[in-house]
Amino acid sequence: LVGSQVVDREVDSVCPFCGVGCLIKYKVRDEKIVGVDGRDGPANHGRLCVKGRFGFDYAHHPHRLTQPLIRKAGVPKDLDVERDPARWREVFREASWDEALELAAGKLKSLRDTHGPKSLAGFGSAKGTNEEAYLFQKLVRTGFGSNNVDHCTRLCHASSVAALLEGVGSGAVSNQVNDVEHAELILVIGSNPTANHPVAATWMKNAAKRGTKIVLADPRVTDIGRHAWRVMQFKADADVALLSAMIHAIIEEGLADRAFIEQRTSNFEALREGVRAFSPEAMESICGIPAATIREVARAFATAKSAMILWGMGVSQHVHGTDNARCLIALCSVAGQIGKPGSGLHPLRGQNNVQGASDAGLIPMMFPNYQRVDSAGAHQWFEQFWNTKLDDKPGYTVVEIMHKALAPASDPHKVRGMYVMGENPAMSDPDLQHAREALASLEHMVVQDIFLTETAWLADVVLPASAWPEKTGTVTNTDRMVQLGRQAIEPPGDARPDLWLIQELARRMGLAWNYPGEDSGVAAVYEEMRQAMHESIAGVTWERLQREGSVTYPCLSEDDPGQPIVFTERFPTADGRVRLVPTELVPADEKPDLEYPLVLITGRQLEHWHTGSMTRRASVLDAIEPVPTASLNARELQRLGLAPGDIATIASRRGAVRCTVRQDDGTPDATVFMPFAYNEAAANLLTNPALDPFGKIPEFKYCAVRVTAD
Ligand code: SF4
Repeated sequence: LVGSQVVDREVDSVCPFCGVGCLIKYKVRDEKIVGVDGRDGPANHGRLCVKGRFGFDYAHHPHRLTQPLIRKAGVPKDLDVERDPARWREVFREASWDEALELAAGKLKSLRDTHGPKSLAGFGSAKGTNEEAYLFQKLVRTGFGSNNVDHCTRLCHASSVAALLEGVGSGAVSNQVNDVEHAELILVIGSNPTANHPVAATWMKNAAKRGTKIVLADPRVTDIGRHAWRVMQFKADADVALLSAMIHAIIEEGLADRAFIEQRTSNFEALREGVRAFSPEAMESICGIPAATIREVARAFATAKSAMILWGMGVSQHVHGTDNARCLIALCSVAGQIGKPGSGLHPLRGQNNVQGASDAGLIPMMFPNYQRVDSAGAHQWFEQFWNTKLDDKPGYTVVEIMHKALAPASDPHKVRGMYVMGENPAMSDPDLQHAREALASLEHMVVQDIFLTETAWLADVVLPASAWPEKTGTVTNTDRMVQLGRQAIEPPGDARPDLWLIQELARRMGLAWNYPGEDSGVAAVYEEMRQAMHESIAGVTWERLQREGSVTYPCLSEDDPGQPIVFTERFPTADGRVRLVPTELVPADEKPDLEYPLVLITGRQLEHWHTGSMTRRASVLDAIEPVPTASLNARELQRLGLAPGDIATIASRRGAVRCTVRQDDGTPDATVFMPFAYNEAAANLLTNPALDPFGKIPEFKYCAVRVTAD
């Protein structure tokens, strides 16, 4: 119906939701988006999922922020953020842009000057453009004066990136998703692709139809399991046990690729020694998979002509997330399944621009292009490039910043002021009560967003920003494709482009930036970023993006078509080899006990995106999934005296929520699954903030809870 409507214009863009990066066409009539079609992009070939096709009218929702807001004097920062958006006048008053920007920047500046650079922090966004991410981190580093800048990659793939940088020297994927069509076997682990990367899942399902073996390894048997050759439903914190047992079996059965190991890896003997005690027989009771199945899958993986591993947050969101990813790197390396078509590693990126935001330096230990802030060479290069003094110590990560906000006044690194662009930590952080207390305790918080999110309710100044269809810029998908989205409509009311807002704050903090040109100087910002990231995107010029719309990196010159498969000859490590790192068994931080006997796993669902600020305001998506749910299998429901549709209370040591229960027999016994998109039953009130020591990622995929019928 939408497709047949008469429209005023059609504008080429990119889907604003997941990291697959489907190319879309906005259909505009009377200055409103009335429909979305898929374009023939390299990642989607015209396909779209329900979010991409129907999740567009959030941009026109009456809750959109259209005027700068300033918190009224004396109104307390109430932690109960489930407020009626219509009651915003009780908390905020409208302000002019000049007044709001002066207050926002002036207070940040005065905190910096009084308490030092470490008293400020910035949360950027993986939903913004590369140019916004680049300028945001530049503002924090050169204006705030420290590396206290992070974003939601800390909550999704930080542990994967830590392991990848250590092991293969690059935090991005080795092969693109649709390379699964060249794979004889695909290992999908800790990922629910039909819900979270739906168009990517279509390539997997197509491959399975043509004979590719899919192995699903996951505590929850999700939809992709219907297409799997083998399903390994392992215990929720036993990834290292399962993967080490596969590595053990490959080595012990003489299936390791000796030539690859000798020519392209380092530290193999330490790995062999490290997995010696992890025989499938010793691990079967720990991971819950029969030894014979582990051996069968390990053999199939090692002897396949080509095999790819795709993983999601089921791998990364654990206190042993980095170890999990180390095991995946070791598994493909001992089998020689990397560096060729259909063979490699693919951490499926969550948000539409989490790859690009990380590449652009929106992380506390890295300048753009993963140059370490504590590397003398990189530090000197960026000091010259930006013509200013820079901090050479890594900054605090997302969860650490929350702790630092609640630190005593005597702590010289206490965080007192924060600038949040398009992130919603009052919904996305673990142990939300603590996170909300931390945000509320700040002396000054500036939130730039399109809605009055749960985080914005706690702000001192709220800056109304532009939604994705209202701006031009680039995003980088999970496949390392830099893709151009074009502005389709104007922002509502007095809302402004994010890129303009960052520059206005920078100017008022005393930075002399100059990015001339249309669309808040987006092309000039991109060109500066391209210079800072010349080792990966030198050949991806703004003009080329205008022409081609999507270019894969590494791309080192304008006639370089880009490299869809990397590591074919060498790894970008110091010695050119992949480093194999042995791991230990580390249990989940909080195991079930008599008081809290079930395991909670959180995640996403097909229709709702992350904290729900956009998709719950998209009418079709909200109509399909209107209420929060908790999924348990039939046995567990019966044991608890519950039936599907009943209301239950889910409680952990940190909080409790009430929601509808749903039957899902793919959820294992003694386990409950909850999406985290619903503020009326925020799953993250329950989750455990314990961190992986390397990636500093919280353990969203495991904590102890109790479920009781109401
Ligand atoms: Fe958008 Fe991802 Fe769906 Fe593609 S698969 S339409 S990028 S949400």
